[in-house]
Amino acid sequence: MNVLVINCGSSSLKYQVINSDSEEVLAKGLCERIGIDGRLVYQPRGGEKEITDAPMPTHKEAVQMVLDALTNEKTGALKSLDEIDAIGHRIVHGGEKFTASTLINDEVIATVEECNDLAPLHNPANIIGINACRELMPSVPMVGVFDTAFHQTMPKEAYMYGVPYEYYEKYKVRKYGFHGTSHSFVSKRVAEVMGKDYNSLKTIVCHLGNGASICAVDHGKSVDTSMGLSPLEGLIMGTRSGDIDPSAVEFIANKEGLDMAGILNVLNKKSGVEGISGVSSDFRDLEKAATEGNERAKLAIDMFAYRVAKYVGSYAAAMNGVDVICFTAGIGENTGFIRKKVCDRLEFLGITLDAAANDTHGEEIKISTDDSKVAVYVIPTNEELAIARETVALVK
Ligand code: ADP
Repeated sequence: MNVLVINCGSSSLKYQVINSDSEEVLAKGLCERIGIDGRLVYQPRGGEKEITDAPMPTHKEAVQMVLDALTNEKTGALKSLDEIDAIGHRIVHGGEKFTASTLINDEVIATVEECNDLAPLHNPANIIGINACRELMPSVPMVGVFDTAFHQTMPKEAYMYGVPYEYYEKYKVRKYGFHGTSHSFVSKRVAEVMGKDYNSLKTIVCHLGNGASICAVDHGKSVDTSMGLSPLEGLIMGTRSGDIDPSAVEFIANKEGLDMAGILNVLNKKSGVEGISGVSSDFRDLEKAATEGNERAKLAIDMFAYRVAKYVGSYAAAMNGVDVICFTAGIGENTGFIRKKVCDRLEFLGITLDAAANDTHGEEIKISTDDSKVAVYVIPTNEELAIARETVALVK
């Protein structure tokens, strides 16, 4: 089966076509600047990247351009659209309504819409992408894969906030968590690599990308995760603050004359390691600046690693132990010095790093020594493949 995987943002659309039998990516790319002007990036397997600037007033034109590129006579990965057997859509927020991926129909779309106010920046874009695909390919089955679904197994003591209970009852204010597709993929994969039963392990997954979150997976179930009602909670990220005293938020807003939207913009887009360092949100730039002696870049790196270690420690407590810790996503997969800084703080768990193994980039590898009490692995995530697998499972 060929699955078109779509990940729609408010002005962007990432896509891949994956053959589910070989799990090969037949083509991939993205549309950017939708509603502004429009740019299509398309790359068939083994081929050159093509960039086309063309107007994309809405996501519908963007999807149409993707389909045209996929079936282009010269460079298209497919002969015709009939070769797309199913479409898998990433959906950010499923609230409490979706505990697993689901086949998309009118009722599902309406239910996703009910979750819009929990993710006002993401869910409407996801729905626009779904509707565009439905219009252009009405007979192709589609599946929604939710970032939040994997975390619906969290116990109530982990997902409730310490605020009046009525806010949960009235508005469903609680921790939901995100990156579920990645946490699920990585925790399953590490069990496979270790040759252990998934349902027997206590695993902590550190998904460290521009957006970053940690998840405690106890016997195959997410029991806690660091992001909350929104992706702002938890770790210090590229540009997000992560955990902060709400009183500090009010204090800054008053001093800077910001309203709620203004202060949330600062916490989401101008904070994190970029805000602290004043250099960049990218750890390649931070590492370079730190090596050159930039003190604020060093501080940002230390704060990032400290917070990761603190969450890992707390999740070891939440599960009353931990068998394996996984690092994944852009930073987790590529940045050995961050992994080392985190693991150095976790020596009390009996972790010993294998320095040579840790000195690798983007590989699936065990980075702890054989006598380390807790195993540590780098497991590259692959959210698109996970979405394709979920899609095939439901469509078949
Ligand atoms: P997202 O999907 O949230 O945008 P990614 O998982 O792609 O994030 O991670 C992006 C981040 O990973 C970059 O901002 C950068 O900090 C880091 N990163 C990516 N590649 C490398 C690398 N080769 N070396 C160091 N850091 C890297």
